[in-house]
Amino acid sequence: MKIRDAILSYREMCDLENVQTLQRGMNFRLNPLYSVILMSQRTNAPYKDKIYDDGITIEYEGHDVSKKDYFHNPKTEDQVELLPSGNLTQNGRFINAVKEYKKGMQNPELIKVYEKIMNGVWSLKGIFELVDYKVVNDGRRNVFRFILKLTNLGNVENKKQTIEISQTRIIPTEVKKEVWKRDMGKCVLCGSKENLHFDHDLPYSRGGTSLSAKNVRLLCMKHNLQKSDKIE
Ligand SMILES: [Zn+2]
Repeated sequence: MKIRDAILSYREMCDLENVQTLQRGMNFRLNPLYSVILMSQRTNAPYKDKIYDDGITIEYEGHDVSKKDYFHNPKTEDQVELLPSGNLTQNGRFINAVKEYKKGMQNPELIKVYEKIMNGVWSLKGIFELVDYKVVNDGRRNVFRFILKLTNLGNVENKKQTIEISQTRIIPTEVKKEVWKRDMGKCVLCGSKENLHFDHDLPYSRGGTSLSAKNVRLLCMKHNLQKSDKIE
């Protein structure tokens, strides 16, 4: 089953991760096998995340510590790796994983990235490898930016499994929002509102152009599976 680009309610996302709630954006090793990141590219989103032109790389801005862990206003200050207590922040924990990876001490950290399409509508963007980070001055202060590369992994339990080789590009959130509205939250073939999925109509391997709402549509699981069974 294709998990990537599946549409999930908040509850379904929490259930998938075996947690009661997911409130922080960055969750280092939420699971012994991987970390979880939540992202939002909505216009009012507090952090500046972006997708590179290669279609498989995300630059994810580090998050500020919560106010209760800190005695200043973290929104106006440089992002930090360490709390005053000496404990690592979430940023610090992800940075350490990059450093260990670059020293050859461990594989890149695997990160499941979920994105918020709109209120109550989430989508699994894919499973990524954390390959680098940098410190960027955004004009007001220094923030961390993490570099994530999309993998072909269908799930993190079986690292050998690959999926959707022909569709290894990220569907931008703006496109997903537009498609969700245009298709009115329903399968375009049968009108079902269950188990929906963003389907990329024309794979890159067959000359699909850059992703726009024109070549993405909503399909239910049944129609999505019928499509992938079709011999072309
Ligand atoms: Zn359908």
